[in-house]
Amino acid sequence: MLASRPEVPEPSAAAREKARVLLGPRLGTSKVLVGEESCERFANDESEAEGRVPDAVVLAETADDIAAALAVAREAEVPITPRAGGSGRTGGAVPVAGGIVLLTLGMNQIKEIDRREQLAVVGPGVILGDLHTAVERENLFYPPDPNSWAACALGGNVAENAGGPRAFKYGVTREYVLGLEVLLIGGQRLWTGRRTVKGVTGYDVTALLVGSEGTLAVFGDITLRLLPKPPAVMTLLALFRDVPQAVGAVAEIVAAGLVPRCLEFLDGTTLEAMRRAGNPIREGAGSMLLIEVDGDEQACERQAEQIAEACDAVGALEVAVAQDAAQRERLWAARREMSPAVRRLAKFKLAEDIVVPRQRIAELLERVERASEQHGVRTLAYGHAGDGNLHVNFLWNDPDEVPRVEQAIERLFRDTIELGGTLSGEHGIGVLKAPYLHLEQSEALISLQRDLKRVFDPQGLLNPGKIFAGPSHRAC
Ligand SMILES: Cc1cc2nc3c(=O)[nH]c(=O)nc-3n(C[C@H](O)[C@H](O)[C@H](O)COP(=O)(O)OP(=O)(O)OC[C@H]3O[C@@H](n4cnc5c(N)ncnc54)[C@H](O)[C@@H]3O)c2cc1C
Repeated sequence: MLASRPEVPEPSAAAREKARVLLGPRLGTSKVLVGEESCERFANDESEAEGRVPDAVVLAETADDIAAALAVAREAEVPITPRAGGSGRTGGAVPVAGGIVLLTLGMNQIKEIDRREQLAVVGPGVILGDLHTAVERENLFYPPDPNSWAACALGGNVAENAGGPRAFKYGVTREYVLGLEVLLIGGQRLWTGRRTVKGVTGYDVTALLVGSEGTLAVFGDITLRLLPKPPAVMTLLALFRDVPQAVGAVAEIVAAGLVPRCLEFLDGTTLEAMRRAGNPIREGAGSMLLIEVDGDEQACERQAEQIAEACDAVGALEVAVAQDAAQRERLWAARREMSPAVRRLAKFKLAEDIVVPRQRIAELLERVERASEQHGVRTLAYGHAGDGNLHVNFLWNDPDEVPRVEQAIERLFRDTIELGGTLSGEHGIGVLKAPYLHLEQSEALISLQRDLKRVFDPQGLLNPGKIFAGPSHRAC
């Protein structure tokens, strides 16, 4: 749903004033922003979700600061919304009812990198790209790599269970979170999980909290599992005539038993946007795969050869291997630049993140094309083809087109579910997808999750309006 703001009751003026009055003395005025001008930039994130300017922003530097803010929220009965890098795509960090925004970006210390235990302990504000650099210096590897790695932080990654191109081989953030320092509404602090390789004691509360989108608890320190850094990496680029050919190549690669660490797909309209942004992509190419393998040098070469064969078998126009690190980086920089390049195609753009079983990718894309014609809405698609995770983008110029775009989006979600898929692979549900949760999950399952939410947050103050829509949204 475009620019939707859920029906979350706003706190009274007296409650908001009480929160403002309590925050200063508890945290120190240097850690509390108030006033429209200072707080305005925390009303939105990188999505179309509509927020309200928060009444106060807490700049947390320690877990005690988080606890103090959560205590004030409960005392004053105002909503509180955790926030890290603000790069979320579904409005998770958007304060839909005002109240307090709790910014954990200042907690940006890498506290420990243990080579023997292969783990790291980081604050929730550590920028993902900084963690990659730090662990790789120690010859270690943290695989999750959302394309926003230069802007997003570990607190947001854990809350969204972030994925990225390398998820095909290495899985998503949940696979790497060993333990969490957890702060509950009211300020109680506890620790979940472990530092050991194995451990099955009690319920896996850590796994429950990963992906909880800031609705159950706020994270302080995060303990992460690391891997040895792969000795070599090789990147290939394959161009195809059209989308079915590229999807065919993905099937061939997987059928050959290969597991590249990345298998990124881009359709023809996306390639056109990249050409316009100055990337010299061969004319006539109607789809692309960006493929990356890792392992030792020989294993990389062997895999690259097999991948090239798989691409040739379906009639690829061209398969090229990056010759050095600089060429590799240029390919990935072009991939990262793709999102802004696509944005320039129209005044408005919405990227929906869905997943279908790999064998149904072609079918889904055909359905998207049909819906696009039927509703008269421009679309394009790219994504992580290895795990069936596609980002279908809707483009429009005129606000009058919005109802048609909304119909096309709902069609996409219904098609996704019909093909055995799921509504989000990595961006979460947040505000924007909450109205559609019922398409995928039963009433009973949603109700069980709401009960869980009440256990953690009986007053519904922690990040309200996310994941679960109010009753009026059920009609769509
Ligand atoms: C150009 C671009 C590319 C992207 N590519 C990818 C991609 O490849 N893969 C992918 O998965 N995502 C991608 N994203 C989406 C986004 O970057 C991820 O969802 C990321 O994990 C959000 O991190 P953040 O630090 O920006 O979190 P925010 O946006 O600040 O917050 C996200 C959620 O985390 C919660 N939160 C934040 N901090 C805490 C905390 N300390 N404790 C508890 N909850 C907290 C917030 O309440 C919110 O619900 C992309 C975004 C952009 C703009």
